[in-house]
Amino acid sequence: MICNEKMYALGAKRSVIRELFEYGKKRKAEVGEDKVYDFSLGNPSVPPPKEVKEALLRLLDTPNETALHGYTSAQGDKGVRETIAKNYKEKYGFAFDPDLMYMTCGAAASLAISLNAVIKDEKDEVLTFAPFFPEYRVFTEKAGAKLVAVSPAEGLDIDVEAFAAAINAHTRAVILNSPNNPSGVVYSEEKIKAVAEVLKAASAKYGAPIYLISDEPYRELIFDGKKAPSLPLYYKDVIVCYSYSKALSLPGERIGYIAVSPQATDAEALYLAVCGAGRALGYVCAPSLFQLLVKECDAYTGDINAYKENRDLLYGALTEYGFTCAYPSGAFYLFVQSPTGDASALSEAAKEEDVLVVPSDSFGCAGYVRIAYCVSRDLIERSLPAFRRIAEKFGLRK
Ligand code: PLP
Repeated sequence: MICNEKMYALGAKRSVIRELFEYGKKRKAEVGEDKVYDFSLGNPSVPPPKEVKEALLRLLDTPNETALHGYTSAQGDKGVRETIAKNYKEKYGFAFDPDLMYMTCGAAASLAISLNAVIKDEKDEVLTFAPFFPEYRVFTEKAGAKLVAVSPAEGLDIDVEAFAAAINAHTRAVILNSPNNPSGVVYSEEKIKAVAEVLKAASAKYGAPIYLISDEPYRELIFDGKKAPSLPLYYKDVIVCYSYSKALSLPGERIGYIAVSPQATDAEALYLAVCGAGRALGYVCAPSLFQLLVKECDAYTGDINAYKENRDLLYGALTEYGFTCAYPSGAFYLFVQSPTGDASALSEAAKEEDVLVVPSDSFGCAGYVRIAYCVSRDLIERSLPAFRRIAEKFGLRK
């Protein structure tokens, strides 16, 4: 092999999600756009809030175009970081230090940078809670460590005992994602507190901080009056990885940030490692125009009510047809149990009805399919007879 084999393997093998998305495009060309119910991709279906376009137009009209499109400092514009820290304090009650924040190209870059900043040794392990976003494995392994998944408790919740049992002297970091992709589950404040207690005890036992990397692209997409707890309020060694991809519906613009908790052990050194990892990975100076845009729009969110209505419609229908899934209070995913326990049996049966749903194996949790309901309400309504037929095929509905 003339090039790096591991990188070749990653490039040559598309993710299951992308594979299905590409199949959907092909299938739509064959049978018609409206005959395929594509629930494969987590691409926001609600437009960005109107303030985004207004701010963009205002920004484009500013006289200093070279500054608008020029390099900012490697870690991002200071004024942008200050505004984000101020808004976060108002909303979540925790004060980030703008000098410990780093603007990035979305949560993917935030995670890759954070993992590279904390992983020290090839024996290092990174724990995460199943089901989990499949790219965690890619980022962790590239950063030189091993990803270990902790199986969930009832309702796809965190199993605190299993989590405590999975920690050992090599555990360097834990990735926590709430609201969760792929389950839509929002972990309760009690669970977060319990995780924090386990981490405090383990950090003391092993004599080194275990970092809690909080992957929060769906932080603002929460329903049912729930609120995402701010993790730095419960544990000190936290690195928040945020993205505007979902809350502002800007996934293609690649903008987000890392915030190192000012209370983290030797926070300045940790932040310098974040800056170093950003530099080494080539993630310096996040898109300048969109840094300025999020400075103006950080406090806004797209119409989450549209997602809530989709959730209500689809969750209601699927459970009525006999399917089982954990109740999703956030993000825009449903994680549905395969009646046979075999994920591909359900995803293949769905495919026969031109319903595209992702089998769960790559999410570290066998026997489910993920339905991304960030689609139009009309598409969901039209897909329901197909879901009913799928339920009938499995004998769920007579
Ligand atoms: N983390 C989770 C849980 C996600 O679902 C995604 C994207 O879908 C990402 C990270 C990456 O997000 P971004 O588009 O901001 O890179």
